[in-house]
Amino acid sequence: MTNPAPARLLIVGPPGAGKGTQAGRIADRYQVPAISTGDIFRANIKGKTELGQRIQAIIESGELVPDALTNEIVADRLSQADAAEGFLLDGYPRTVDQVHALDAVLAEQGAALDAVVLLEADTDAVVARLLNRALVEGRADDTEEVIRHRQEVYAAQTAPLIALFDGRGILVSVDGLGDIDEVAARISAALDLALGR
Ligand code: AMP
Repeated sequence: MTNPAPARLLIVGPPGAGKGTQAGRIADRYQVPAISTGDIFRANIKGKTELGQRIQAIIESGELVPDALTNEIVADRLSQADAAEGFLLDGYPRTVDQVHALDAVLAEQGAALDAVVLLEADTDAVVARLLNRALVEGRADDTEEVIRHRQEVYAAQTAPLIALFDGRGILVSVDGLGDIDEVAARISAALDLALGR
């Protein structure tokens, strides 16, 4: 089966919904880079870069990194050649300000978002999944207290973006519950339909 043409895509959903795993699948299928701000931040913390040192405490508390800093990092990443025809952003934008910054970057390229995948999952399920990930991966922001705080931050700052994307007619909601292949198949079908592929 041939791959659909590249597209400019986002995946949003509560922390623990499985966005990272599905982002990789979508990126493979649409032959675009998967760009995760969380991964970029964690790599900087691990590498003890100046950026990493600035953001470490913020990330470990479950708060959001300031918009200006996050927007700059994403704008820089999107200016790279591999993202010219399409990309899959995972974990960005997370605030209304970030949506506007992304719109501006794309407008400069004469481009716009094609679709936003909303991976739906209820809070109890995602908290359970994150507590399990804490045992497996040992992420510093996967303690129960921080996990709960990240859900609150999502509800307050990121969930409002869903209505915004829906208003633009580009929201594709997918049930995130189920095994990885099943959810991936659901996303592919819904995205192909939305993109007319
Ligand atoms: P994630 O891997 O997407 O769950 O992100 C982990 C942490 O990185 C978040 O809890 C935030 O502290 C930070 N982070 C990731 N993406 C963003 C973003 N778009 N804006 C602000 N902070 C972010």
